[in-house]
Amino acid sequence: MPFIDHDDLKVDAVQLVTVLLPVPLNGGLLTYKPVSDERYNQNDFSIGTLVEVPLGKRKLVGLIWETQGVNPDIGIDKIKPINRIIQAQPLADELLKFIDWVATYTLSPLGAVYKMCASVPGLFEEGQKKKIYALSDNGSEVARLTPARQSVIDLLQDQKLRSAAEIKNDLGVSDSVIKGLEKIGVLKSREIETKGVFEKPDLTLRGPSLSDEQAIAATAIRKAVASSQFKPFLLDGVTGAGKTEVYFEAIAEALQGEGAQALVLVPEIALTSQWLGRFKERFGVHPVVWHSDIGQGARKKAWHGIASGEARVVVGARSALFLPYSNLTFIAVDEEHDQSFKQEEGVMYHARDMAIVRAKFANCPVVLASATPSLETLVNADSGRFETLKLRERFGAAVMPSIRALDMRVEPPESGKWLSPALVKEIKARIKSGEQIMLFLNRRGYAPLTLCRTCGHRFGCDECASWLVEHRFRRELQCHHCGYTEPMPAKCPECDNEDTLAPCGPGVERLFEEVSSEFPEARTTVMTSDTMTSPKATAYMVGQIEKGLLDIVIGTQILTKGYHFPNLTLVGVVDADLGLRGGDLRAAERTYQQLMQVAGRAGRAEKPGTVYLQTYEPEHPVVDALTKADGESLMAMEREMRERFQMPPFGRLVALILSGPDIKAVAEMGRRLAVSAPRGDVLNVLGPAPAPLTKIRGQYRYRLLLHASKTTKVQSMVFNWVERTQKVRGVRIKIDVDPYSFL
Ligand code: ADP
Ligand code: ZN
Repeated sequence: MPFIDHDDLKVDAVQLVTVLLPVPLNGGLLTYKPVSDERYNQNDFSIGTLVEVPLGKRKLVGLIWETQGVNPDIGIDKIKPINRIIQAQPLADELLKFIDWVATYTLSPLGAVYKMCASVPGLFEEGQKKKIYALSDNGSEVARLTPARQSVIDLLQDQKLRSAAEIKNDLGVSDSVIKGLEKIGVLKSREIETKGVFEKPDLTLRGPSLSDEQAIAATAIRKAVASSQFKPFLLDGVTGAGKTEVYFEAIAEALQGEGAQALVLVPEIALTSQWLGRFKERFGVHPVVWHSDIGQGARKKAWHGIASGEARVVVGARSALFLPYSNLTFIAVDEEHDQSFKQEEGVMYHARDMAIVRAKFANCPVVLASATPSLETLVNADSGRFETLKLRERFGAAVMPSIRALDMRVEPPESGKWLSPALVKEIKARIKSGEQIMLFLNRRGYAPLTLCRTCGHRFGCDECASWLVEHRFRRELQCHHCGYTEPMPAKCPECDNEDTLAPCGPGVERLFEEVSSEFPEARTTVMTSDTMTSPKATAYMVGQIEKGLLDIVIGTQILTKGYHFPNLTLVGVVDADLGLRGGDLRAAERTYQQLMQVAGRAGRAEKPGTVYLQTYEPEHPVVDALTKADGESLMAMEREMRERFQMPPFGRLVALILSGPDIKAVAEMGRRLAVSAPRGDVLNVLGPAPAPLTKIRGQYRYRLLLHASKTTKVQSMVFNWVERTQKVRGVRIKIDVDPYSFL
C-alpha cells in the first residue's frame, strides 16, 4: 500500500477516499465519497481521519487510508457517501505506517490489524451522559422556599454546573428536592458527556538513589530519550537487579515533553499489584492499565485519553502496542524473552519485535529488559544493532540464590509422592526458621490424566486431541484447550466399575495434598489462574504472603513473574524436566528462561535464597547451566546449533496451519500446498504433517513449515504460494511468520 504524505495532497483533486474498515471484505479497504454538505470541507477528509460509513445495513467506523482521484471503473454514483466524521483529529501518521508494516510482515489483511487498534465495543458511540443542573434565569426570584430548597439555590449561585449526585453529596438533600426545583422552573438541566480524567504524573518526585550500574544504564537511556531518536537497548540484568527502577528513570525523562507518552509492555500475568504500587510511588499517579481483563468503560476511556494525549503512561499486555498514541516518546518491554508476547490467534505477531518497529516509526528509544534475554535479542545485541546495558548484581544486600539439582534417580520420592526427601528436609528447616517457600509446578489441576485401573479407559476431550485434567477442588474434569468441563464421574463410563479411576501424574492440587499431609503445621496455598481469578483475589493472596501469613506457596508460572517477596528463601522446582520433553526449537532456551525466573523469586532481600531443581537428568545442559550459574555458555551453545542449522534468528521459518472439520479435506489442502510449494537452494518446505495437537475444538489440524535463509523475502514467497494453490472448501489456512509454537 503506497503511503501518501499529507503534504502531497491536493485538496481539489480529492474526490474519493479509501477507508480502512475492520472487516475481511477486500482486506478492509473500501471506497467512499466524502460528503459535500455544509458540515464539512473537502480538506476535513484527510488521511487518518476517523469516519462513519455505511456497509450493507451496518454503520462502521474506519479511518481514511488514502485519498484518490475518481476511479473511472466504478460509476461514481454507485459509491456511497461517508455518513459523518467521528474524530476530526486524524490518527497519528506513525500509527498508520505501523498498521501497514504489521499487515505486510505478518501477511494479515490491513483490516485485521486496524481492528486491533480500535477493537473496543462501542468505542465511538457517545459516551455516558450525566444530567447537570444550573439555576434558571429567574431562579433566585421565587419566594417561600423550604430550607433544603434554599440551600440548593445558594449552592448553585456560583454558576458551577453540578450533577444531582454532586448536589446531594454537598448538601445531603434528597432527589425530590432537586426534582421539585426543576419542576417549578428554578433549576434547568441538560445532559453532558462525561469524559475521562487523567491525572498528570508528578515529575518533581525523585526515584531512589541508584547503584553505579543502574546509574550508568539509566543515564544512557535518558540521553537517548532526550535526543528523541530511535534506539533499541537491551537491559540485561539479573533478577532483582532493579531493572524496573532503571526504566522508570527513562519514563521520567520521556514525560518531560508536553503531552509526551510512555508505554511499558509486560507479559499479561506479570502486571502485578506490586508493580503498580511502585509506579504510584515513583510518579504519584496510576498509569493507564491495558489488558484483556479491563472493562469496556475503562477501555473506552483509555483509548480516547491515549488518542488525545491526556493519558501519559500506559502499562499493558501486547495489545497495548496498537493504541493510538499521539506522542509516544519511550517504550519498555519488560521480560522481553517471554513467549506470551507472541500472539497466537488472528494477526500472529510478536509484540517484542513489533515494539521495535513501533519505536522506529515514533523515533523513540525502546528498552528490552530481561534477566534471560532471548537468543534473538542477544544476537541483535552482539551485532551492535542494540546497545547492551548490564546489571550484574542484585540491588543492595541481596545476592543471587544458589541453585542445586536434586537427582531423582538417586533419591526418589516414595511412590505416589512428588517431593524428594532432600527437598522435604529443606522445607522443614525453612518453616522452622520462619522463612517462606515456593514450590513451582507448571500444571494446573490435580492430575493431567485420569484412567480406569480395570479397563484402561482414559478420559479425553471429544473436541480436542487432549486428556481431560482433573480439578479436584471443583470436582470436575476439564479440557485445557477448549475449556470443556464435566463433573468428576463416580465410575468408569467404559466398564462401569466403581472406585477404579486413578489420577496419573501430579498437578498443583495434588502437590497441595502432599504438602498438607507432610507439613500439617504449615500455612499453605495454591496460586494458579484457577485461584487468582481477579486482581482483587490476587492482591489479597499476595498481601497474605507479604504479611507473612503463609508459609508455603504452590504455584504455576503465574507466580514466577514480577513478584518480590523478601522473606521467600527457598524455591523448589518440582519437575525441572517438564519443559524439555517433546521439545521444539526453543525448548532448552525457554526452559532455562522459565526456571531462571522461578529461581529469581528466592532470596531477593537480606536472607540468601536456595533453589532446588528436581530432575531425572541432572547432566542436561539446561540443568547444568542453572546450577553453574552459567547461562552464557548455554546460550552460546544454543546459538551455535541454530547457526549451524540456519534456524532463527539465523534463518527464517514460516508455518502454515491448516484446519477444518473434515480431516480428509484438511489433508488434501496439505497435499496441494506441498505440490505447489516454492523450491530453491536456500529453502525447504517440511510437511504436510498432522499437527502434534491433531484436533482443537473439533477442527483437525495439519502443518507445513517453510524454512528459508535469512535474506529470503518469505512474505511475498508465501503469499504467492498460497495464492496460486487451489483451495479446498472448508479448510482454513493460517500463516504464522516467525512461529514460536509448533503444536
Ligand atoms: P528486577 O526487575 O531487575 O528483577 P526490581 O526492579 O524488581 O528488579 O528490583 C528489585 C528490588 O530492589 C525491588 O524491591 C526494588 O524496589 C529494589 N531496588 C532496586 N533498585 C533500587 C534502588 N536504586 N534503590 C532502592 N531500592 C531498589
Ligand atoms: Zn477440548
